Amino acid sequence: MDPVLARQHMVKEQLEARGITDTRILGAFREVPRHKFVEEYLKYRAYDDYPLSIGFGQTISQPYMVALMTQSLMPKPQEKILEIGTGSGYQAAILSRLCGTVHSIERISALASRARKVHDELGYYNINIRIGDGSQGLPKEAPFDGIVVTAGAPHVPGALIEQLGEGGRLIIPVGDESLQELRRIVRTKEGVREESLGGCRFVKLIGRNGWES
Ligand code: SAH
Repeated sequence: MDPVLARQHMVKEQLEARGITDTRILGAFREVPRHKFVEEYLKYRAYDDYPLSIGFGQTISQPYMVALMTQSLMPKPQEKILEIGTGSGYQAAILSRLCGTVHSIERISALASRARKVHDELGYYNINIRIGDGSQGLPKEAPFDGIVVTAGAPHVPGALIEQLGEGGRLIIPVGDESLQELRRIVRTKEGVREESLGGCRFVKLIGRNGWES
C-alpha cells in the first residue's frame, strides 16, 4: 500500500476513532513516515495497530500509544521536550514536528545511532539524541516543558519531576514488569498534580531510578 494512504488510514481508524482530536498531532502522524523507523522485514506492518520489534528486545510502541502520550504531553511550538527511551526514534520524530527542541536519551548505543541516521535522512534537525541512563533525566538541559518516558518504571523518579519547569508535564508508565499505569504529573506553583491515563504495557526502564538490568 502507498505509505501516504496507509498513514491516512492509520490516523482515521486507530487515532481519530479512539479520541485523538488534536489536529496538529494528527497532522504529525500523517507526515512522519513510520515505515522508516522499522526494520526492512517489518515495513509492510509499519502502519498496523501493534507495537513492533526493533531488535535488542525492544519495541516501537503501537501508533495509538504514541499518540495518546503525545496528546497527554500537550507539546507546543517553541517548547523543549525530553524523551527517555529513543528506541526507533519514531516518538522523537513526532514530537519534533510539534515543539521547538527534542532531547532524547537511549541506553543502547546501536539504537541511538540508527535513530540519528533516520532523523538526519528526514531532515528532522531539532532532535538531540544522547546515549546514557535517562532515568536520571538530563539535568544539563533542564528545565523542560515536558518529559515523556517511553519505558515502564517501578516508581516515578523524583529527578524527573525536579527537571520540569513550572507548568511542565511528565508522562510516565509506572507499575510492575508486566503491566503499568500511564500517569500524567503536572508541576504547578503549588506543587504537583497527578492523574491516571489508563493501563499500558512497556518494556522496562533500566537504570539508577528504574529497574536493575
Ligand atoms: N520511544 C521509542 C520506543 C521505546 S522502547 C520509539 O518511538 O520507538 C523503550 C526504549 O527505552 C528502549 O529502546 C530501551 O533501550 C530504552 N531504555 C530503557 N531504559 C532506559 C534508560 N534508563 N535510559 C534510556 N533509555 C532507556
